[in-house]
Amino acid sequence: MPSHILDNALGGVGNTPLIRLDKIASANGFKCNLLGKVEFMSAGGSVKDRIAKAMVEAAEKEGKLIAGKSVVIEPTSGNTGIGLAMACAIKGYSVIITLPDKMSLEKEAILRALGAEVIRTPTAAAWDSDESHIGVAKRLQREIPYGIILDQYRNVNNPLAHELTTGVEIIDAVVSTPSTPLKPSSGKVDVVVAGAGTGGTVTGISRAIKKTHNKGCTVVGVDPKGSILAIPADLNVEDDGAQYVVEGIGYDFVPDVLDHDDVDAWLKTDDEESFAAVQAIMRSEGLLVGGSSGSALAGALRWLKSDAGKDIANSPGKNVVVLLPDGIRNYMSKPWFLKIAMESGPTPLSGTIAQILERK
Ligand code: PMP
Repeated sequence: MPSHILDNALGGVGNTPLIRLDKIASANGFKCNLLGKVEFMSAGGSVKDRIAKAMVEAAEKEGKLIAGKSVVIEPTSGNTGIGLAMACAIKGYSVIITLPDKMSLEKEAILRALGAEVIRTPTAAAWDSDESHIGVAKRLQREIPYGIILDQYRNVNNPLAHELTTGVEIIDAVVSTPSTPLKPSSGKVDVVVAGAGTGGTVTGISRAIKKTHNKGCTVVGVDPKGSILAIPADLNVEDDGAQYVVEGIGYDFVPDVLDHDDVDAWLKTDDEESFAAVQAIMRSEGLLVGGSSGSALAGALRWLKSDAGKDIANSPGKNVVVLLPDGIRNYMSKPWFLKIAMESGPTPLSGTIAQILERK
C-alpha cells in the first residue's frame, strides 16, 4: 500500500496483498503455503481495475480519447466497467457499459454511481449475435459520435497490465518474504491458480512468472462448467451450454487475449463448490471475497488433491498462489450470498441469537 499522497483514486489501483490461507490449508491437510492474492483491496474493488487503467492510459497516449467528447463503450461482466467508469469519472470521458442480465444489481448500481450508463443484455445471447453485450456495444459504437470500444477481449494492454503489475507483485511478495523454521518458503512462486473470463489475468501472470522468475511454475486455469475456455476441449463437453451463477469467468468463445500456451492445466468448477469455498474463506480467514474467488479456491483445493498436485501439497515451503478477483460486496443481493451468510457457522458461539441465549 502506498505511503505517500496519491494524485487520484487511480493511484489506489493494484498493489494488493498476498495473504496466507493457513486455516484453509491445514483443514485440507496441506503442508505447502496456500496464499491468496486479494484483489478486492484495489480502489475499484477488483482485479480488473488494473486493465481499465492501463487501457485508458494507453488510448490517451495514442491520442484516441478526447476529454468532454469521447464516449467509452465496453461490454463487460461488470468489473472492467467499474474500473473504466472510475478512470473516466476522473478524466472526463462518458461511459456506456453493456452488461448481461445475470450480473448483480450491485455492479449496475456502482456503475451508475460512477456516472456510467448501463444497458442490460440477455445472458443467453451468443457472443456474436446482435443482442449480446458485445453485439450491442458494437452497434452503439457505430451510432455514437466519438464512441470507442477499448475491447478487453483483444486489447494487448489487458494481459500486459497483469504481466507488469499483478504478476510482478506476486513474485515480489514471495521473494521478499524470508523462509523461517515456522513458515518455510521455497522463495519461488511454485503454482498459480486463476479463473479465466477474458483470460487476461491468467495469461499475464503466467508470462511474468515464467519469463522472469520461475519457468517451472505450474499455472492452473479455472473455467466454470458450461464455458468452453478449458483445453483439452473434451473437458467442456459434459456440461456444454449449462448456465452458471458465478459471475466474471467463462465464455462461449475464446478471447484473443487468452493464450492457452501460458496455462499448464485446466479445471472445471461448479457453482456449489465455488460458493462453499467462499463461505469457508470468509468464516476461517475473514476474507470477504466474491464468487469467482470461490471458484479459484475450489479449483486450487482440487488440483492440490489430484495426482498432479499432491506432491506440492505435501511439500512444506512450496508456494501456491490463488488469485481472488473481487469482493463479496459485489454480490450482497444475490440469493447464493444470503444463503451462505445466514447458515449457522462452525464456531461454538454461532447459531441464531435465540440458540446462543439458550446456551448460557
Ligand atoms: N472474476 C471476476 C469477478 C471478474 O470480473 C473477472 C473478469 N471478467 C474474472 C474473474 C476473470 O478475469 P479475466 O477477464 O482477466 O480472465
